[in-house]
Amino acid sequence: MTGTTESKTVLITGASSGIGAATARRMATLGHHVVIGARRTDRLTALADELRSDGATVTPVELDVTSIESMRSFTEAALAEHGRIDVLVNNAGVMPLAPIADLRIAEWEQMIDVNLRGVLYGIAAVLPQMREQGGGHIVNLSSVSGHRVDPTAAVYSATKFAVAALSEGLRQESQDIRVTVVSPGFTRSELTDHGGATEARAAARAAAEELAIPASSVADAIAYAIGQPTDVDVNEIIVRPAKQR
Ligand code: NDP
Repeated sequence: MTGTTESKTVLITGASSGIGAATARRMATLGHHVVIGARRTDRLTALADELRSDGATVTPVELDVTSIESMRSFTEAALAEHGRIDVLVNNAGVMPLAPIADLRIAEWEQMIDVNLRGVLYGIAAVLPQMREQGGGHIVNLSSVSGHRVDPTAAVYSATKFAVAALSEGLRQESQDIRVTVVSPGFTRSELTDHGGATEARAAARAAAEELAIPASSVADAIAYAIGQPTDVDVNEIIVRPAKQR
């Protein structure tokens, strides 16, 4: 695989479990400086201890992506430590599945706040710094659900289609900043552990148990995009289980 090998400062939101934690592990293994954020700081501390014991540079920071102040503190912590921000992986996400007719409005708002507003806040918090540096890379997690719509996933899909749309707009407006959308299919994580209608959650869990690929497979796809030379922008990656339709 061709690509760059220098150490970068890589910020990852939602790094306390699943794809975010796997990406932090992958980035640390590659020698990058990782700054990891999430609400569950006990998980972040445990992950940081694990990676540091292997010699990695890791900064755990409490982060709620639904707050622009929290997002700014996260990126400021990275800048204070490393003086630059090379990559932001906007990974934090929630997926409380339910039919629209259930009118679970608080969960709709949570999905919009975390999956869409959180990505925008992440972009807002790093874009001026990346422009000043004359470069950077923003990796946004969409989903196979950002390419197709299924029952019980309409609102989740709407947020993930939106992430793809705003990423494409950002890409077109950016000459020096690379923008990548990574769209996973069923991946082993804690995504179906929180919220949603009981039946919809059970169906998603059953499908995940049968099909899901490890979170490290998605981390590898993210690492591939990040590892390309700075004039090569991998715009979109869909990575799903071979058996997923
Ligand atoms: P997990 O539930 O394992 O991880 C989600 C992460 O998001 C956690 O670290 C959680 O941390 C964080 N998070 C949630 N809310 C907030 C918040 N308000 N502020 C900061 N962090 C938050 O799921 P995945 O690893 O699967 O999800 C990662 C991304 O991948 C998501 O965007 C998801 O939509 C996407 N994806 C996942 C697929 C799958 O099959 N697993 C398929 C397609 C896309 P904490 O609770 O500690 O704050």
